[in-house]
Amino acid sequence: MKVPFYRHSLKPEDFNAVSSVLTSPILTSGPVCHKAEETLAEFFAISGVKLVNSWTNGAVATLLALDIGPGDEVIVPAMTFIATANVVELVGAKPIFVDVDPDTFLIQTEKILEAITNKTKAIIPVHMYGQMFDVKRLRDAISKFHKIFIIEDSAHAFEARLNDLKCGANSDVAIFSFYATKNVTCGEGGAIVTKDLNLLSKIQQTVLHGMTAGAADRFKSGQYKHWGMERLGTKANLPDILAALLPNQIQNVYQQLAKREKIAQFYDQYFASKNIEIPKIGEGVLHARHLYPVGVPSSKRDLVIKILGENGIGTTVNYKAVPTMTYYKQKYKYQKGDFPVSEEWGNQTLTLPLFPDLNLEELEYIVKVFETKVFPVID
Ligand SMILES: *Cc1c(COP(=O)(O)O)cnc(C)c1O
Repeated sequence: MKVPFYRHSLKPEDFNAVSSVLTSPILTSGPVCHKAEETLAEFFAISGVKLVNSWTNGAVATLLALDIGPGDEVIVPAMTFIATANVVELVGAKPIFVDVDPDTFLIQTEKILEAITNKTKAIIPVHMYGQMFDVKRLRDAISKFHKIFIIEDSAHAFEARLNDLKCGANSDVAIFSFYATKNVTCGEGGAIVTKDLNLLSKIQQTVLHGMTAGAADRFKSGQYKHWGMERLGTKANLPDILAALLPNQIQNVYQQLAKREKIAQFYDQYFASKNIEIPKIGEGVLHARHLYPVGVPSSKRDLVIKILGENGIGTTVNYKAVPTMTYYKQKYKYQKGDFPVSEEWGNQTLTLPLFPDLNLEELEYIVKVFETKVFPVID
């Protein structure tokens, strides 16, 4: 049997939505994006929404809009996907890594406070695996400093809530990813959500070269209008061809989450009596169940990945600690042990398949392979 790491659940109505864009005059950002932005604004109950072609490009556009660049510091977790730190490098600022909590693998407010200097311009907490970090507590804790922006890396957390609040409720801006394997996907894409409409108007420029009016808007009146450029921008807008995949998924997102939750609970129950580490979930969390990582002894991690692979089960590693990557290690001279929790988890963790259409037969097969092939070598 083969169990892929991920299988999307796009349906014929999604294919039809893309087809209808192909027969319309606008292929790039136009009415389909506008409509999806309205849907997202309603979903998050926040009026400022801009669709982008990736989390990464959206974050670069956001940092440019916030005037963050050379000489500035941005605090990021050491345990995350590399993109969280890379975007800070891309605008010429310095990522300041802090270690994560050994139970949840979320960035820690206490460690953030220790890392703040007068150069700190922003903090990018990550809602790891789909569990929300407590943004409100961070916001209150940093209120005694100069203005420091909170940019939520919400790539894993579209459906997530903490004490009934969604992403964006307590931060300056939240950024989502609609990459191929994310809970909501359009192949490549993302969204920026902000309550700050002044920031939104700057982001609308930085996602489109810095131009003062978007391509579709320029022709709205039927007459050509000159555009200007007041700030430097990148190219981060989402085309309508891809945005067409979003509305249906957003509408069904909590039905899909219920399926994800069931699968996660199946794994939880199986691993409860085993020598396997699973991230803990805090009070008041509605988990988005994006990823299901487990921790095994670091000396056996790669062997476990190999055994699962040989038995047709797809896995990934989310993630190796970012400061251990050659680029960061060499540039900032990090030593082994600088970020002990992130480094250790990065050597222990592997992620199992978790997607809404993963069926019981596939789950039972995964358990059987653990039972007969994995535990005999790690116990
Ligand atoms: C996927 C991911 C990103 C990057 O998203 P893209 O849309 O591929 O740019 C950033 N941060 C985290 C935590 C992610 O998982």
